[in-house]
Amino acid sequence: MSWIDPLSRALHRQAGQHGPIMLMYHAVQPGKGTPAWPWAVSMQRFRDQLDFLATEGYSTPTMRELVAAPAKKWAGRTAVITFDDGYVDNLSACEELQKRGMRATWFIVSGSVGQAPRWSTNGCPVDGRPAGRLLNAAELREMHENGMEIGSHTVSHVRLPDIDDMRLMQELSESKAALEAMIGYPVSSFAYPYGTWDERCAQAVKQAGYTATCSTRTGWALRDKDPHQLRRLTIFNTDTLGSFARKLYFGSHDVRWRDIAAYALRHVRRV
Ligand SMILES: [Zn+2]
Repeated sequence: MSWIDPLSRALHRQAGQHGPIMLMYHAVQPGKGTPAWPWAVSMQRFRDQLDFLATEGYSTPTMRELVAAPAKKWAGRTAVITFDDGYVDNLSACEELQKRGMRATWFIVSGSVGQAPRWSTNGCPVDGRPAGRLLNAAELREMHENGMEIGSHTVSHVRLPDIDDMRLMQELSESKAALEAMIGYPVSSFAYPYGTWDERCAQAVKQAGYTATCSTRTGWALRDKDPHQLRRLTIFNTDTLGSFARKLYFGSHDVRWRDIAAYALRHVRRV
C-alpha cells in the first residue's frame, strides 16, 4: 500500500457514517504519477485506490444494486465505482477490479461504441483525452458477463438541456435499446453527459425507462433521497491517496486543505 499522510488517515477512520459514496472515473492510463488529462488517473494510483477501498472494508455494489436495496442495507462503508465514456484503457481497470472481487458501472455512449469518440468536447478541455477507439460491443458483453454493470451515457454525448424534446427521447431510448442489444440484458442506469440536466431531462429519463440516474454533483450518493439524483465524487489526475481518503471521509470532491480549513472553521463556530 502506498504512503498516506497521517492526518488524512486519521480523518478517514471515521469515514462511512453518512451512507454510500459514488466515485467517477474516466480514463486509467498505464504507468505512475499524474497524467496530463484532468480526468485520467495512472494505473498505479488506481490500484492503490482499489487496495485502499479493499483494506478499509468498502463494499462495491453496482449502481443498479445500490438503488435496488433499501438505504439501510448500505450502513457499512459503500463505494459505487463508475466510469464514464468507455475508454479502451478501462479494460485493464476492469481486470484490476476482478482480481479484487470488486465491481463497477460503466456509462457508454452508444453511438461511439468501438470507435473514436464522435463527440466534440464542447467547452470541456480536450488536451490529453485518450486517442483511439472506445470499448466495443464484444468487450462490453464480456464485462457484463463478469458482473460489471453497463449503463447509458446517451447516443452522442450531447448536452441534454440544449436539445428539443424529440431528440432528447431519441438520445435516451435509442442508447438504451442499442446497449441492451449489445449485452443481451436490460440497461437501467443513466449518467448525464457533462453532468448537465434540468427538470425536463429528469422527466424524460424516467419516461425512457431508466430506474437510476447520476450526475456529477458532489456529495453523499443518496443525499437527495432520489434514485434519479445520485451524487458522485470526481477522481482527478492529481488525487493522491491522501486526497482520495479525504474524499471518502468528507463525501465531497473539494478536499484541498484550504477547503477543509474553511469547513473546520465553520464547524468550530457552530459549536
Ligand atoms: Zn462523458
